[in-house]
Amino acid sequence: MSTQIIRNARLPNGNRVDVYLKDGTVEKTETRDATALTNDADFDAKGQLLLPALAEPHAHLDKAFLAERIHNPTGDLMGAIHAVHENAHTLTFDDIVERASRAIKIYVKNGVTRIRTHADTFDGSTLQVRALRQVANNFQDICDIEICALIQWPLTGKMGEPSRILAERARADGADLIGGCPHLDDDPTGANKVFLSLAKDLDCNLDLHVDETLNADMLSLRDLAKRVIAKAPTCSVTASHCVSLGMQTKKVQKQVAQLLVEANIAVVTLPQTNLFLQGREHQSAMPRALTALSALREAGVTVMAGGDNLQDPFNPMGRADPLEAAALLVSAGHYFPEDAYWAVSSKVHECIAKDQPFLEAGSGANFILTPAESIREFIAFANQPRTVFRNGVLIHDTLEI
Ligand SMILES: [Zn+2]
Repeated sequence: MSTQIIRNARLPNGNRVDVYLKDGTVEKTETRDATALTNDADFDAKGQLLLPALAEPHAHLDKAFLAERIHNPTGDLMGAIHAVHENAHTLTFDDIVERASRAIKIYVKNGVTRIRTHADTFDGSTLQVRALRQVANNFQDICDIEICALIQWPLTGKMGEPSRILAERARADGADLIGGCPHLDDDPTGANKVFLSLAKDLDCNLDLHVDETLNADMLSLRDLAKRVIAKAPTCSVTASHCVSLGMQTKKVQKQVAQLLVEANIAVVTLPQTNLFLQGREHQSAMPRALTALSALREAGVTVMAGGDNLQDPFNPMGRADPLEAAALLVSAGHYFPEDAYWAVSSKVHECIAKDQPFLEAGSGANFILTPAESIREFIAFANQPRTVFRNGVLIHDTLEI
């Protein structure tokens, strides 16, 4: 049954409120009325902290929990890519469904109501897309799951033809949007052009792995932003990683950040995985491999944070809990805790799902209630109870995990 009123919830600013819900969305929020009678459809929050539900803007559910099966001998990005490619034949439909389902159950228990997952495409196969489509359908009552087909390179010229056809097949087989890795293509700017044109032809959004390298000479992000400004596509464009932007001078960071604002491109930073994969060649003054967070935020770019990989060759760590990314934004990215929480929750709902801001009338009733004293404490302890609502429905207790 949908909850009608969440009574006596505590907001991050300390105010006590009653939140009125209607059809899975927020109708209004009023100052707590301690004298109001409650009925069965009301939920007594007992003064717990009310926060937007968490969200994962960048996962790879098809590879979750492969760390024991596939070893990354070098520990870097190319080591992980080669290891997974060499073992791709060992991945089956049922195996992908099983591992991804395990991950989603943990995500949801941790308060995640929305996930965008990438899905590998190997040798012209859409196996991962189809398996994740089934998983997304299986869990549609408790989590919104969006699938981005990660199209293999190269994309351009005659050699790129199979990949371009594959993008079409991936869409037909259940991918909601497409993505790829232009910086790994022989022709990164050509790949940007192809991806934008594919997104238009296939009528879908674009989420690219951009410049996932500490090599400052690679800056395909600037080209992507300029192309988006010039073409003004109707699709939304997300740039994930953008590691090499963090290696640019402050002047270049500022210039690119301004282009991103003009292009309306959102950025997803993925601290845990990039801290693991990058920097091994810099044993002195090792860079943090995060993007230019300060410049992006100063310019007004939407910045979200995600976990990326989950216990696989790209990242042997991960709890399927966005509070990990939030904690790293604080310690490695110098965010204030409140801003870090927003980057793994409401900013994702607003950017990916075009939802209204937290508690605004009409916004999705996707919440976490926790006894934590503050957002900072919630992130720091990371193990406090979380009661989870999705579209006004209490879902945490219904899970069998
Ligand atoms: Zn990724």
